[in-house]
Amino acid sequence: MPDPAPPAAAEARAGAERYAEVIVDVAAAGTDRVFHYRIPPSMCLEPGFRVLVPFGPRRIVGFVTGITGTTDVPAQRLRPVIAPLDHEPLLPPDVMDLCRWVAETYACRFVQALRAALPPLVRRAAPAVRPDLAVVPAVDREQLRQARDTLAARAPRQAQALERLLEALESGQAAPWLRDLTRAEGLESRHYRALAQRGLLRLEERVRPRDPYPEDAFTPEPLHEPTPEQARALDAVRRALDAGRHHTLLIEGVTGSGKTEVYLHAVREALRRGRGAIVMVPEISLTPQVIERFKRALGRPVAVLHSALTDGERLDQWLRIRRGEARVVVGARSAVFAPVADLGLVIMDEEHSASYKQDETPRYHARAVAEARTRAAGGVLVLGSATPSVESVHRARSGRVEHIRMTTRIGGRPLPRVVVVDMREQHRRGHRGLLSPLLVQALGRTLTAGRQALLFLNRRGFSTIVLCRECGAAVRCPHCEVALTYHRAGDRLRCHYCGFSRAPVSRCPGCGGTAVGYFGTGTQRVEQAVRHLFPGARVERMDADTVGGRGSHERIYRAFRSGQVDVLVGTQMIARGWDIPGVTLVGVVAADTSLHLPDFRSAERTFELLVQVAGRAGRGDEPGLVVVQTYNPDHYAVEAAVRFDSEGFYARELAAREALGFPPFGALVRVVLSGADPGAVTAAADTLNAAVRERLEGAAGAEVLGPAPAPIARLRGLVRWHLLLKGPDAAVLRHALREPVAALERAAGRVRVTVDVDPHSML
Ligand code: ADP
Ligand code: ZN
Repeated sequence: MPDPAPPAAAEARAGAERYAEVIVDVAAAGTDRVFHYRIPPSMCLEPGFRVLVPFGPRRIVGFVTGITGTTDVPAQRLRPVIAPLDHEPLLPPDVMDLCRWVAETYACRFVQALRAALPPLVRRAAPAVRPDLAVVPAVDREQLRQARDTLAARAPRQAQALERLLEALESGQAAPWLRDLTRAEGLESRHYRALAQRGLLRLEERVRPRDPYPEDAFTPEPLHEPTPEQARALDAVRRALDAGRHHTLLIEGVTGSGKTEVYLHAVREALRRGRGAIVMVPEISLTPQVIERFKRALGRPVAVLHSALTDGERLDQWLRIRRGEARVVVGARSAVFAPVADLGLVIMDEEHSASYKQDETPRYHARAVAEARTRAAGGVLVLGSATPSVESVHRARSGRVEHIRMTTRIGGRPLPRVVVVDMREQHRRGHRGLLSPLLVQALGRTLTAGRQALLFLNRRGFSTIVLCRECGAAVRCPHCEVALTYHRAGDRLRCHYCGFSRAPVSRCPGCGGTAVGYFGTGTQRVEQAVRHLFPGARVERMDADTVGGRGSHERIYRAFRSGQVDVLVGTQMIARGWDIPGVTLVGVVAADTSLHLPDFRSAERTFELLVQVAGRAGRGDEPGLVVVQTYNPDHYAVEAAVRFDSEGFYARELAAREALGFPPFGALVRVVLSGADPGAVTAAADTLNAAVRERLEGAAGAEVLGPAPAPIARLRGLVRWHLLLKGPDAAVLRHALREPVAALERAAGRVRVTVDVDPHSML
């Protein structure tokens, strides 16, 4: 293994030797630094190249981060780069810098940040681009037909191969792929090679794009004439683009106010100025319709990046951006790292969405990364939402972000009327059903009028738990602490954390009592209730159970959109982004489920979810009605949501956060310790706690909470404890953690440590 070289190399060695500074693709303690390798005289390398290098006994992939003429690694220990893996640098310098920033900000290794930024296939020790063979005719079609007829008797396979080629040519392909042609029964590449020898065709190596959304499927379409509110927002974007400096805009626009249309215009403006753009949307809203809308409006190559693509597709999309073939990227969280050159604009739709925070290392938030990236690029960041994050609202209020409001829906449609049903009172009156009489009535009227309804539940099978009426205990997962939920599909009890499942019980595992019962309001139960009440209605369900494979989300959406479904019951999946004119009723079956999570963002999440789901109603010509069922009608998040009172909610929430020093008024870092041995975990927690407290002594306003068992105290058989660090400055907290965490990692194996800077989940 070569020696590490500190960036400021002490002695220079004479001569024209050049050394590559390489980050190796190994995420272990001790490898998170630059290694020096000798560059053989004939080899051309630049920063950004991937290289194959020796590492101990192995050969592994590394990334060249710099080239230097000096090193203090002794000559006998310097090993040479084996080979570059590509013909061009794959990693642009600005993306490399961004990864460095991510590693620093989120306390992870540089190579972990690189992994998040690059498509998975880039980590393979093979050229990223492997050409395919295209079959190019060397004579005209008539001659091909003649050859086919001549060969029919002597070489029937070659004649058949020509026939296949002719078919492909007739269908409009100029140079079909060999691999496609040889899919037909009995045809092999040797048949085409034989034809090539006869001079009838050539086999050419060409790069084959794996594009799941071929461009020619869309025709460019004109955009709408902007409304006055849209025009105002666009002017602000234009001004910022023209200033050519970093600038952030928050567009707070009610659902249906035409934000997406503003994004489309904005991207056009950036392109017109010769600059590239990244559009981020939450994974769940990255539907074919959304992609189609962008491709239609822009009428030019748009690359798409998200996790549902195959690795090959992802790589090809990434390379199209890297080569400048596509100047616009539409994608999920990781698109923020897309190698767009001269980035002028980043748009983050639904900027409040929890999906922008990565829940594995590196635990980055795409909003913060976008901010850092546009700052470095001198670009404009547009954050859009009907329910902006408390963080963004705070920044807008303190003048660091330009705040633009869009308050009216397109076509002047009113926001829906919202009615709250106090479920406690329903209970007192003896109503035990999931659906209150008011909601049932509204459903009936909607169906009679031939309109559509959405019934929303916070989570699939959220509380369809098995409870013993005698001892009150729930049936829990033996590996995790959570209650199992009942799933009709397969008639099983399932754990939502680890996937454990078991047959339903007839006796309480705790006390042996026989009075076990199923409680709760899973989507399945709501679906059943609706079917029972309205036998004639066409009811569908959309949740993680019904939306399994690629395309099923799409199928249900299309069925609903085209009016083949009257009532759709669903989870978060139906809450956001949908624009379906036929929906006049939205029922929130239980508004409370997110209120009681042990998380300082629970009020924000509840508010956001209620406003978003309510926004699905009344987007067509008919006014909408929203029925919210809740056991907490007086909670400020519920009260504000049902009145669409954002100002009121943010004022209240910001005051609460400020009083407690929670973000955005302070930084938070969470450390989770987990392991199979409870004693080892608590010992590690104590050690860490003591070390961190000592280091934070004297740091004004810094505070350590815990250690305590995490809200999910057991997960997949591991015991979990956590420690929370709070303080005015994230850098101080990170710094205090660095050494103690490294020490725990060196102690190795038995206890796992994860550091989450700016945590978005406290479970
Ligand atoms: P949002 O993203 O704020 O929910 P959209 O941009 O999706 O809103 O717009 C809502 C609907 O209004 C869409 O069907 C869109 O095509 C239409 N729309 C947007 N802007 C205009 C406009 N200026 N004139 C007419 N229709 C518009
Ligand atoms: Zn479990």
